Amino acid sequence: MIRVAVAGAAGRMGRLIVQNVVQDEELELAQAFDVREIGKDAGEIAGVGRIGVPITDAKEMEKVLDADVLVDFTTAEAAVENIRIASQKGVKLVVGTTGFTEEHWKKIEEYCKNVPAVISPNFSVGVNIFWKLVEFAVQFLKDYDIEILEMHHRFKKDAPSGTALKAAEIIKKYLGDKKLVFGREGVCPRGDEIGVFAIRGGDIVGEHTVFFIGMGERIEITHRALSRQAFASGAIKAVKWIAKVDKPGIYGMNDVLGL
Ligand code: NAD
Repeated sequence: MIRVAVAGAAGRMGRLIVQNVVQDEELELAQAFDVREIGKDAGEIAGVGRIGVPITDAKEMEKVLDADVLVDFTTAEAAVENIRIASQKGVKLVVGTTGFTEEHWKKIEEYCKNVPAVISPNFSVGVNIFWKLVEFAVQFLKDYDIEILEMHHRFKKDAPSGTALKAAEIIKKYLGDKKLVFGREGVCPRGDEIGVFAIRGGDIVGEHTVFFIGMGERIEITHRALSRQAFASGAIKAVKWIAKVDKPGIYGMNDVLGL
């Protein structure tokens, strides 16, 4: 049995991870952390009935964390701190949280010298194939204008999405350091740039399109997440994969999926 702790257990993704862990014969929910719903049963909060694991105040994590793998879907600030604690305790990591700054990344890279971690801005298998398709297309469409559009629910805190930024990073790997332009207003003739646009509204789970726009034609590569279960299934795959990895360092879903 792989003993899993979940940080952000009362959140949208955290509750789904709790559900998936409880329903998986290879996994056991060892601990659940959050800064709200403290003391309540994590299974009841997740809608799978009482499981006898209370949500523990995240402030206590440093003292009590005890698991094989910590899954983190929280906020960028919180995740950096949780990664520090897990690395200190030798607890492996699966981190889905997005919105990290360069400063955050420096710390994360330091902490993950001690512990293996899968960190991905998008755990869906489909999005990882979407990134591969973008990488394929950009190599043949270097002269085309490239734009990225992402759409998410009204509660998403960071913009643009980590998934859109990763698509931009992949494109820049082949086209040099193109400037990213986040939205346009006023007089702004198109330069040597990639436009990145974020739509926020309602309950959109997550949609991404990369446009390759030429003279007289256009290719659009689109991924649509229809339910958060796409992310949860990938995160669970990552938990089972990292449990078998001993070499410390940061891994991605491409490693988990063997892409
Ligand atoms: P949410 O706001 O519903 O949940 C976040 C939870 O974290 C909340 O319950 C909050 O109280 C809790 N939290 C805050 N600080 C904490 C701390 N110090 N310790 C423990 N818990 C803490 O958000 P969400 O929609 O579940 O998304 C969470 C993160 O995951 C976001 O960064 C989002 O962009 C990202 N996300 C990633 C993927 C992926 O596939 N990688 C998919 C969906 C969402």
